[in-house]
Amino acid sequence: MAGIEVTALHKRYPDGTVAVEHVDLSIGHGELFVMLGPSGCGKTTTLRAIAGLERQTTGDIRIGDTLVNDLPPAERDIAMVFQFYALYPHLKIRDNLAFPLRAEGLPKPEVHERVNEAARLMQLGPLLDRRPRQLSGGEQQRVALARALVRRPRAFLMDEPLTNLDAELRADMRTEIKHLQGELGATMVYVTHDQVEAMSLGHRIAILNKGRVEQIGTPLEVYDRPASLFCAAFIGSPPMNLIEVEVADGKLRGEGGLVLPPPPGLPRDRRLVAGVRPEALEVTAPEAEGSIPARVVSVEWLGDEIIYVVDHGGQRDVRVRMPPTVRFAAEAKVGLRHTGGTPTVYDVSTEELVA
Ligand code: ATP
Repeated sequence: MAGIEVTALHKRYPDGTVAVEHVDLSIGHGELFVMLGPSGCGKTTTLRAIAGLERQTTGDIRIGDTLVNDLPPAERDIAMVFQFYALYPHLKIRDNLAFPLRAEGLPKPEVHERVNEAARLMQLGPLLDRRPRQLSGGEQQRVALARALVRRPRAFLMDEPLTNLDAELRADMRTEIKHLQGELGATMVYVTHDQVEAMSLGHRIAILNKGRVEQIGTPLEVYDRPASLFCAAFIGSPPMNLIEVEVADGKLRGEGGLVLPPPPGLPRDRRLVAGVRPEALEVTAPEAEGSIPARVVSVEWLGDEIIYVVDHGGQRDVRVRMPPTVRFAAEAKVGLRHTGGTPTVYDVSTEELVA
């Protein structure tokens, strides 16, 4: 296994589209690294450049100690898994797995051993003599993963490999991929636009926007301290509330009179927005201590929690996550107060985290 270094990657397609403006990534040996971002942000192009399926316009890619800019995909010693399984329909699963090894000219006993090993890891033993159409979508995707495994590559690249599976299977496969990655100590780069997938899988996540990296951090870091307004709005469901604030008498005062604890080092004379997670707010009875008057706009009952949308006289309604035992109806007059830790604060003009 090997780490991957991407330096100043820039990709402009022949039609003039700039898919990747500037991307630097330093992916550790044995790391499960996730690239997350909305459709069109350049994730797939970056991954394909690492794989050698797309030639970057400028920038360098290193796999281990090797500069691979000029190496064709087959010589980069990596395996790629796509959202479409791309299995050979006429071949048995056993032969689908053996195919890349036979193509490399490996001796028979070794092919046999590697196929069995991959089948064991992906629990495909009972399916080896079937053909792809006799398998469910989840089983086919396991075969696709196993086919990447048999090659024992230096790194795995995965482009939304679970997109075509239903929600339950996706969750199962996520667990399997994470387990497998840990067991093999494999370097893995995983592309997704699904933040739940990114948060649950990644050791670290790179959040991409418009061909640039907005933030790289552990799931906890990107959740607790989004580096920009884009990240603040992108990570979390429901997303962070973004509330205009002013600094007065050492306090942070939000729209509608909401009082927030000020983080240290707040800049002066700038328009600021505080990022407040829905679980850092509380809907209370009207006039409860420390609360400001508000009105319930809507109630979303999720079983184990309730999401309240509340109008507190600000530019935007705020979302509040509450335990299912605290119940107010739509239109109820309520109180709203902050109960969480220090909020993150962003400069409205630069859209970047300032405190
Ligand atoms: P998605 O999640 O939708 O797959 P992505 O983040 O993976 O999106 P890319 O596929 O890397 O994004 O595309 C980035 C940008 O480059 C998009 O605007 C896309 O339309 C454009 N693009 C991709 N491939 C080409 C191509 N072959 N020629 C021209 N433009 C392209």
